[in-house]
Amino acid sequence: MVPSPKKTEADHTAAAPKPKATAPAAPLPAGISVDAPAGGDDLFAADPLRKCATLDALVPVIDACRKCQLGSSRQSSVPGEGDPRAGLVVVGEAPGATEDETGRPFVGRAGQLLTEILRAIGLAREEVFICNVLKCRPPLNRDPEPLEVSACSPYLHRQLELIGPRVILAMGRPAAHALLGSNAALNELRGRVHRYRGIPLIVTYHPAALLRNPHWKRPTWDDVRIARRIYDGERV
Ligand code: URA
Repeated sequence: MVPSPKKTEADHTAAAPKPKATAPAAPLPAGISVDAPAGGDDLFAADPLRKCATLDALVPVIDACRKCQLGSSRQSSVPGEGDPRAGLVVVGEAPGATEDETGRPFVGRAGQLLTEILRAIGLAREEVFICNVLKCRPPLNRDPEPLEVSACSPYLHRQLELIGPRVILAMGRPAAHALLGSNAALNELRGRVHRYRGIPLIVTYHPAALLRNPHWKRPTWDDVRIARRIYDGERV
């Protein structure tokens, strides 16, 4: 039997086997390109919301929206109002009857309570930005449906992107769920600082819930004071 030759150092360092030749890539379907769009734009530049460079530019887009049934049943769209450079953004659920009549967020009874809550932490309505997850009123103030939330929340995300607040106050479960992508109960979400795209977010009771259950005012007061501390620059 012929002994097999010993492997030398050179054998171990021999060139790796040549990769198999790959078949040429199939041509892309018509209309698809791997090249960056001309003019420095990215692939999302045609997105109508990305084209809205200001909160004001979003207003007619929201008003023209018919992505869900609420666009046809409401009187006015309610995009939100306040300081476009606010350090605090308050997010509620959806416009109610008075908001639907006026086109302004939180101006009914729950809104008056919100104004008082803000005043209690030393902020005027005009100093913050106030808006809702839904920009149109659900009939009879029913809960928002999941499809309505998914159709409408891109407006909220764009508003938050344009404002870039220091802190977000999510009032009520629908606001917390839409912003955090969570299904947890409000009590599980309260009492800690969450992050929405890196921005600290505090969850608290909705003012309408406080009108029904005044004993929730005390914990709400605790929550909004934390929001105020973050607004003032406390690092979290
Ligand atoms: N409730 C909300 O969630 N938003 C409003 O604007 C009014 C009442």
